[in-house]
Formats: sequence, structure tokens, C-alpha cells
Amino acid sequence: MSGLMSAIDEYAGADLDGLSDATLAADLADLRVAIDRAEAEWLRRLAAFDARGAAAAEGAVSTAAWLRRTCRLAPGAARERVVVARELAELPATAAELAAGDISYRHAALIATATSELPADDAGPAESILLEAARRTDPADLRKVTTHLAYVLDPDGARRREEERYESRRLFVSSILDGRFAVDGSLDAEGGATLLAALSALSSPRAGDERTPAQRRADALVELARRSLAGGELPELGGERPHVTVTVDLTALERRPGASSAELDWSGPISAETALRIACDAGVSRVITAGASEPLDVGRRTRVVSAGMRRALAVRDKVCRFPGCDRPPAWTDAHHRRHWADGGPTSLANLILLCPTHHRCVHEGGWTLSGDANGLITATRADGMVLRPP
Ligand SMILES: [Zn+2]
Ligand SMILES: [Zn+2]
Repeated sequence: MSGLMSAIDEYAGADLDGLSDATLAADLADLRVAIDRAEAEWLRRLAAFDARGAAAAEGAVSTAAWLRRTCRLAPGAARERVVVARELAELPATAAELAAGDISYRHAALIATATSELPADDAGPAESILLEAARRTDPADLRKVTTHLAYVLDPDGARRREEERYESRRLFVSSILDGRFAVDGSLDAEGGATLLAALSALSSPRAGDERTPAQRRADALVELARRSLAGGELPELGGERPHVTVTVDLTALERRPGASSAELDWSGPISAETALRIACDAGVSRVITAGASEPLDVGRRTRVVSAGMRRALAVRDKVCRFPGCDRPPAWTDAHHRRHWADGGPTSLANLILLCPTHHRCVHEGGWTLSGDANGLITATRADGMVLRPP
């Protein structure tokens, strides 16, 4: 082991600035082979350790539990390593290729899983076909080969496993203590691909977009739901079109001191700024109360902005009016530059189209807009940075 460590120390001590591109490229290829070879040896020892039941002697309930504790592997990774180590002990050709650094751990794991799911007679021939493929493809493509092969060699088993994967589909959307929602689940191949196709259509970055890819996907999922609700094509629920209800006290909308906060269905209290934004172009149903929850305006779900006014806005604005944004009218809210709760009129001169992201910037994000609704709009961030239309 000390020889291995000193070899690594030698690499670590090298000054990279002094290396040519060709040397760097060769080192990358060589080190990858070394990592795969070390992984093979690690798995070989793991299989022996597991077969002896040595984890129990070390006081662990299973080899995977011992790995988690000793090698600090995540539960899923530890279980996978143990399964792959056991399978590889039965697949000497695959183990030898990994030991030689000709295939990677990921390749070996795929071959081990695929052959273990096949009838015993097919496992041998399948291993040689998959090894041949593994030398030429990356793991993503090898996964496709394993699926095709399973359908050819064991169609009933492959269909059954696909059915099992489908049966394990699930989605949890749960509100957590701070008012956010946690989303977790797993989808079958077709469901996942359908969702990704819809999300990617809605999550491409815009000019000057500072959102992370994960934030863009989150926005796209909400956008998908908003559009479905706004399109009115969802089935009715309890005799009503599905919608989100926001309950807000008039004093909160008027931003009077001491006003109570607003509430959103399922999620609980929201800030007055958020309530103002939602009420700005009520695509949600509003329940406005006066004082001790005396309803003033219950469930008026017609948009404050009429369909005709909305069409006129679409013709005039064409896209979200925030400088540099190109979201089309169908994806926007009609923003009252002076809120109707403050007496602002629902007129073309007081309305502009803003996409959900930029509508949020203006209400909750501290940006201010200036300029004529019919002319150019500039946006100023709280710290004074100014964005002008391109
Ligand atoms: Zn607004
Ligand atoms: Zn926008």
C-alpha cells in the first residue's frame, strides 16, 4: 500500500504548469486506468471480506453497513458496491477487464446487474456480448445495450422488471415547516422523458439569466402548472375549476402597519408583497377580508384584467416588458404599475406584461420600473444598478 501511496504522492507533487498538453492528456488517461484497476482490486477484496462475514466480526449488521461506517459511502452506493462485488466474483471475464483497466467500474456494474437479471443459461453469452460493447461505448450507451439484450434473451423477465419499475412510480409534494414545498419521487422511463421534454421546453435560459439550471427546472415545473390552470383544460374538482386561493386582509393589500399576513391554499402564510403580486393579476381566486375575516370579495375568479384588455396588452407589449426579457404574452401576468389596492386603474396606461420571474422581481425583489407603459421601460435594482431595454 505504501508503494501505491508514494506513486500518488509523486503525481500530486508535480507542477502542472510545467507539463505539456500531451503529457497532461496522457496522465489523465493513465490515471483513469489506475483508478479503474484500484477499484477492481477493492471490489475483489470486498467480495472476500463479504464472503467471510467479516463485517459481523467488526460489529456491523451487514457488509454495506460496515462500508458506510468505515469508507463513508452513502447507503445506496454501499449496497450497490456489495452487490457488484458479489456478482463480479461470478463473472471472471468482466472482473479481469476491470482489473486490466479496459472497462470502468460503471461498465462492470452494469454488466453485473444485467447478467444477474437473466436466466442462468443466458448469463454467460450475455457477458461476452456486453463486454464487447463495453470496450467501445460509454456507460450510458451500454445501459441501452443491456436493455435491448434483456428484451431479446428474456422478454418476459424484461417486461416484468419494466412493470416493477413502473409500479414503483411515486410523487410526494409536501409542505415543509418554513412554507416551502419538498418534491420527491421517481417516474418510469416514459413518464420521466415526458416530464423532461415539457420542462426543457420551458426552462431554457434567457438573456442575462442568473438562475441555476435547478432553479430554471423548478420555475418550469411551476410554469407548467400555471399554464394548465390558466388554460382551463383541467378536470373540475368539487364542481369548480381547479385554482389556487389566496386569502388576504384588505389592510395587508393597503400595506397598513400591523396588517396580518396573507394565506395561500395548502402553504400557509405568505408575505404582503407576495399577496400583492398574486392579487395584481388574479389568476388565482382572491378572498379579501376586512378585519376579523369578514369576507369583502369572495372568490372573484374573473381576472381583474379583462380578456379584451389582455389582448390589447399582448398586441402592444408582445413580450415581458422587463428589459431584455423575451417571454411571450401567454406566459405573462398583467402587472398594475400602481396597484389597484392603492387605487391604480386597470387601464393600458397602468398595465404592462411581466413574466412570473420578473413580476416577482418587481413585487418581492426590490426592483423598480420607470418609463411610460407605452414607451421604454427601465428597471433599477435595489442597489442602484440600472437595466435598459436593448
Ligand atoms: Zn404586479
Ligand atoms: Zn420577464
